[in-house]
Amino acid sequence: MTKEREFDVIIVGGGPGGYVAAIRCAQLGLNTACIDNFVGKDGKSSLGGTCLNVGCIPSKALLESSEHYAQVSGGLESHGIKISGVKIDVSAMIQRKDDIVSRLTGGIAGLFKANKITSIHGHGKLLDGKRIEVSSTSDPESKEIISAESIILAAGSSSIDIPCALVDGKTIVDSTGALDFDKAPKKLGVIGAGVIGLELGSVWQRLGSEVVLLEAQDEFLPVADQKVAREAKRLFSKQGLDIRLGARVTGTEKKGRKVIVEYEDKSGTQTLELDKLIVAVGRKPNTDNLFAPEAELLLDERGFIEVDSFWQTNIPGVYAIGDLIRGPMLAHKASEEGVAVAEVISGEEPELNYDVIPSVIYTHPEIAWTGQTEQHLKRAGEKIKVGSFPFAASGRAQALGETDGMVKIISHQETDQILGVHIIGPQASELIAEAVLAMEYSASTEDLALTIHAHPTLSEAIHEAALAVDKRALHIPN
Ligand code: FAD
Ligand code: AMP
Repeated sequence: MTKEREFDVIIVGGGPGGYVAAIRCAQLGLNTACIDNFVGKDGKSSLGGTCLNVGCIPSKALLESSEHYAQVSGGLESHGIKISGVKIDVSAMIQRKDDIVSRLTGGIAGLFKANKITSIHGHGKLLDGKRIEVSSTSDPESKEIISAESIILAAGSSSIDIPCALVDGKTIVDSTGALDFDKAPKKLGVIGAGVIGLELGSVWQRLGSEVVLLEAQDEFLPVADQKVAREAKRLFSKQGLDIRLGARVTGTEKKGRKVIVEYEDKSGTQTLELDKLIVAVGRKPNTDNLFAPEAELLLDERGFIEVDSFWQTNIPGVYAIGDLIRGPMLAHKASEEGVAVAEVISGEEPELNYDVIPSVIYTHPEIAWTGQTEQHLKRAGEKIKVGSFPFAASGRAQALGETDGMVKIISHQETDQILGVHIIGPQASELIAEAVLAMEYSASTEDLALTIHAHPTLSEAIHEAALAVDKRALHIPN
């Protein structure tokens, strides 16, 4: 009988949580193995998890391509640039997206080699005694057991299915299917006006689809600051996204190549005939078949793996990170947890500041924020002061022709410490980094106000919003 392979650390999952944890473990001198079961479009193993294969990266590639298309088909007229005869080749756009995915996922494989990480393609399952059963993705009967001192579970998440709109991969798709339409559907429905629904709805709306978003909740983007959410709803509706709030989908029926969607709103039962329907109602942790009953791993009441403040599960030496545990389902949150857990395993006591994780929605304009929203702080009874600055008053935004949106800063009334920064506008995803850094250093609005920003830049809007908190903005009346 061959001896079980043994490692210092085994990581289950090769997404931004798992692959980053593997690299950091290897840097710290640990003999590391990473098991991942993802199979790419070419039928081969593909590291990088949801994020690189079917999430962050491919969605941003399509958002970028579709935004170029929207710009050249009429979006540049105010610059005096008139272009006629613009054509869209959807298959070339999808191929570009696939090429980006292959380059990046191949890059992770290269990093694994360079760091001497043992990469295992297969399905990992936690057994008792810190052992992992690895089964082949092509032949589940082919199994190997490996063991380690420490185990990191980083199996990520997958789309939530709803029985009233079962995904068939043709007419009704999840976010993965929506990255691969062969042409812009004439009439496209999206269930769920959350981050993923808005991003994917925007892609196809820019390429010519008539898009209806059906959202069960009455409030638009409740996770965002409500001033920003109101502005976003106004701008997205102006672009042509038909956002129906208080619209709960209750059923679907196939009719030839179309789908009839039934939903309830204030006025009763409504129906819509669509060419395609995207189900984007959230994601659930991949805990199915991740651990054997005898492992006795504890989950919380929402089905996430229960961890302590050092990401350790109820089993000593077994950790969990990323979309499998509480907190926002974001790639950068998963990666930071991956680094932190590797350091815990090496005997360090790392800290991760969950209060200043940036959130971004890559619509046009982009939305980005960090820290608390005004509605949350008010509910908590905090004494706050607020300043905002519209991009319409920014010279750089005027030059860009991107004047929609604003920067809003909330700080503590007495200490002046920044509690939240909310941006809707051009390059919000990049601008938010300044706010994250400021808040990481517990900066006050005065600190931001004292910082010199280059002129003319979009970042001046952050400077002006900080000044506006104390009613001393220079380029708007206070
Ligand atoms: P994952 O990336 O899900 O990786 C887990 C990996 O483990 C997968 O490869 C999976 O196949 C594998 N696996 C699962 N179970 C097993 C097992 N038992 N054995 C072996 N392998 C297993 N986040 C952002 O921050 N920015 C964005 O712009 C963004 N855009 C997104 C767009 C879309 C369309 C989607 C769907 C998600 C997006 N996200 C974004 C969310 C982001 O993708 C996730 O938060 C992130 O990937 C979580 O990382 P993870 O490492 O925890 O898990
Ligand atoms: P997120 O979790 O941010 O991806 O958002 C998913 C959204 O889908 C949430 O805002 C939910 O309210 C919404 N949702 C869930 N089920 C339904 C449904 N049956 N009909 C319409 N919207 C739904």
